[in-house]
Amino acid sequence: MPEEELSPTTRILRTRCEIEGADPVVTPLFQTSAFEASSPHFYTRKENPNGLEVEEVIAGLERSAHCLSVTTGMTALLVVLGLVPTGGTLVINTLIYGCTYRLCFREAKKRNIDLVVLDLSAGDESLSKVPEEAHMILFETPTNPFLRTINIADLAKWRDKHAPEMLMVVDNTWATPLFQRPLECGADVSLYSATKFFGGHSDVMGGFITTNRDDLHEEMSSERFYGGMILSPYSAWLIRRSMQTFTLRMREHERVTAEMYKFLKSLSCIQSVYTPEVDGTQLTGYGCILFVEIGDELGQRYESFRDALTLFSSGTGMACVTSMVAQPYTGSHASLTEDEKAAMGIGKGLIRLCFGFEDPEDLKRDLTNAFRVLQS
Ligand code: PLP
Repeated sequence: MPEEELSPTTRILRTRCEIEGADPVVTPLFQTSAFEASSPHFYTRKENPNGLEVEEVIAGLERSAHCLSVTTGMTALLVVLGLVPTGGTLVINTLIYGCTYRLCFREAKKRNIDLVVLDLSAGDESLSKVPEEAHMILFETPTNPFLRTINIADLAKWRDKHAPEMLMVVDNTWATPLFQRPLECGADVSLYSATKFFGGHSDVMGGFITTNRDDLHEEMSSERFYGGMILSPYSAWLIRRSMQTFTLRMREHERVTAEMYKFLKSLSCIQSVYTPEVDGTQLTGYGCILFVEIGDELGQRYESFRDALTLFSSGTGMACVTSMVAQPYTGSHASLTEDEKAAMGIGKGLIRLCFGFEDPEDLKRDLTNAFRVLQS
C-alpha cells in the first residue's frame, strides 16, 4: 500500500530500517560509533540506523521531506536559531517556554541579532507589527502558558506577501504532528522536544527538526554534524520504541484531559481554566497540559497544594504516562525576571497540570483534597 494512504498509527508501526540478512521484527540497538567502509553509514555523529528510523517515523507523521534528530528540544532550537544571520532580525512570540526565551536573548546578544518580542495571538493587529525585514519568526502554538492560538496559515499568507524571505518556525512540541502539522499550514520548520510526548515516559531526552526545504535541511545537518548534536543511538531506540504507542497515548491523554477539564471548571476556588481552541482545521485534538489560575493570594501557598498531592509528580517535565504539577513562576519560566514574568501575565497563582493515565476519578479525589488543604 502507498505509505501516504496509511493511517498515522499503521505508518508508525510499519516504518522500519532494513538490515540485510537479519530481518528482525524490531530494529535492534546499533550501539556503535563507526561503520565499516562498505556500510552505507559512516560515523554515528553523522547518522546511525536507529536515528534514521525514528527520523522516518517523525517525518511520516509530519508528512515532511526531512527530519533531523538531535540531543534535546533545546538543541533543536539552537540549531534552528543558527539559521538567523549575525546582525539579522528575529521575532518571537511573547508567550513562549522560558528557556527558549532566554536562549533567544543569549543568541541575540552574542550575534548582534535584533530581537523583537510580539504578541502574535492578536490576529491582524499582531501582523501589522511584524518587521518586514525579519529573518525568522519563532513561536509555539498553543502558547506556553495560557494555550492561546497563533494562526499559522494567516501568518504564512502575510509572510508570502510582505516578507517572503522570512523563515517561519513553529515549536510544535505541545500539539504534536498528530494534531497539528505546521508545514502544511505554511511554516518552513516544525520542531519538537521529544522529551515530551514522543518519549512519553520521562526517561529519555531528544529533539527533532522537520522541514520540506532541502537547503535548510542541508545547513542544519551540517550544523548537527560539526557541532556533534545528533541524538544518541540508545535515545533514538528508546524514542522509537515509545512511538509504537504514540497514537494510543495521545488519544488517552485527550480522553483524560477532557474529563479533567470539566472537573476543574466546576471548582469554585479556580478563577480560570485554560485550554486551547481545537478548531478542527489547524489543531485537530489536544492532550494533556492545562493551566489553572487560582489568584495570587492562594498562589503564595502553592507549595502546600503541591505537597498535598499524592498522584502528581512535581519535577520538571510533562506529557508522559504519569501526572505532573508545576508552577511556571518557579519552574518553566523561573529564568525570567520579575518584569518579564509580569509582561507574560505569569504570577504565583498560575498552575500547570499535566494529566497522565491514572484513573481520572483518582486524580479528581487527589486534586479535591489538595485544593481543600490549600484553602484551609
Ligand atoms: N520546547 C518546548 C515547548 C518545551 O516545553 C521544552 C521543554 O519543556 C523545550 C522546547 C525544550 O526541550 P528539552 O527539555 O527536550 O530540551
